[in-house]
Amino acid sequence: MSSEHLLEVLNPATEEVVAAVAGASPADVDTAVTRAAGAQRTWAALAPADRARMLRRFAAVVDDHLEELARLEVREAGHLIGNARWEAGNVRDLLDYAAGGVERLTGRQIPVPGGLDVTILEPLGVVGVIAPWNFPLPIAAWGTAPALAAGNAVLLKPAETTPLTALRLAELALEAGLPEHLFQVLPGRGDITGDALVRHPGVAKIVFTGSTRTGTRVAALAAEQVKPVTLELGGKSPNIVFADADLKTAVDPFSFLDNSGQDCCARTRVLVQESVYDEVRALLADALAAVVVGDPADEKTQMGPLISRQQLDRVRGFVPDDAPALRGSAPDGPGFWFPPTVLTGERPDSRAACEEIFGPVAVLLPFTDEEDGVRLANDTPYGLSGSIWTRDVGRALRVSRAVRAGNLSVNSHSSVRYWTPFGGYKQSGVGRELGPDALAAFTETKNVFISTEGPAL
Ligand code: NAD
Repeated sequence: MSSEHLLEVLNPATEEVVAAVAGASPADVDTAVTRAAGAQRTWAALAPADRARMLRRFAAVVDDHLEELARLEVREAGHLIGNARWEAGNVRDLLDYAAGGVERLTGRQIPVPGGLDVTILEPLGVVGVIAPWNFPLPIAAWGTAPALAAGNAVLLKPAETTPLTALRLAELALEAGLPEHLFQVLPGRGDITGDALVRHPGVAKIVFTGSTRTGTRVAALAAEQVKPVTLELGGKSPNIVFADADLKTAVDPFSFLDNSGQDCCARTRVLVQESVYDEVRALLADALAAVVVGDPADEKTQMGPLISRQQLDRVRGFVPDDAPALRGSAPDGPGFWFPPTVLTGERPDSRAACEEIFGPVAVLLPFTDEEDGVRLANDTPYGLSGSIWTRDVGRALRVSRAVRAGNLSVNSHSSVRYWTPFGGYKQSGVGRELGPDALAAFTETKNVFISTEGPAL
């Protein structure tokens, strides 16, 4: 297989070709690692205040280009323009937040007899960040911003379908004055460019966000060199709705339709206490019928297309035409469109109820009581996210403790803030990103003992 390859970027709403981008070969990866290693040494030697200042400048330059980045995200990923603006703003915020950590990356002094013992947090070196297509801008920055702040260089491999915003970010980093080669973007196929990045002995850590299937392969390959990984993988998150909840808010369909359902935190298993099942079903039917699906660049649109023909075919495979379901509408013609859908005739062990679909499709399942609701919520190999809806505070706390997932919300569907930790239990991942400890994941801890015993006289 030749490693020379070209990526064709399509607009998912029109199927028009937006750009063709050359993929990086293993030789390109090797060159990038050598250059990054040189830049990293210079970067790590700078005074912390200077590194922090440069990251803040990078954030400011991103802020100056928010609209441009957002428009690019709409064209290559089909995101709604309002969401894309938020996503570009999230990159700015992540850089600012990480910059605040540079001077606070302190080690410790631990009491020992006969001397002084200090721990020092040192950068890892060159970090590889492999990103998916569903949130190209934020997820690229989740790994990149804290890794740079902790004194590392970053090689970012964006997904095949969405390399453009990442490439633009690298240009903006140079414009902001970051050292050349410190942050490089290597577009390319996963099995060529991504694979070369994971295998390269000069890459000290891999941060991978993507499917559990690929993540497992990446982790196995990294293990051959005992290379640390952070994995942010798939999800099949529950929305647990008790009968006493504010039902209309609890079953907001955007809890699984946001980004056309291509969201690792999407609450795609709507678990409803059986006494309110019919009421919830009726609410969802009305809500789905009202969703405006169409041109993502139009401010009034509520849901855009799927990313690709391949993803559309995959989603269709979970929804046979005769499946009992509540359905909204979607445009005809070019573009990768699928209507908002809630499957109502699934068993808890059916394929659609168990596998991550990654499209605007949820399943509606009844449960009897609290114990049954928790059992059903945990009946999955995933453990990323979830919502709990009840007016009973005690129950909200009990269920929050009992559900095995990394990011839960009570009487809310929110899950990601850059200043709180994020990551999955079980097969949804390893490690945590974001939050106050984000920089520590990009350091080695060195312990040094200094004897206070003088030389024998
Ligand atoms: P994917 O696993 O197909 O690809 C992710 C990235 O890995 C891409 O850049 C791809 O090119 C690369 N890749 C593919 N094969 C590789 C290999 N052999 N070696 C190295 N890299 C390789 O995932 P996707 O379809 O792009 O993204 C969707 C998935 O991402 C979903 O499962 C979703 O749940 C998950 N996701 C998780 C989170 C989270 O934080 N947990 C966030 C967003 C998306």
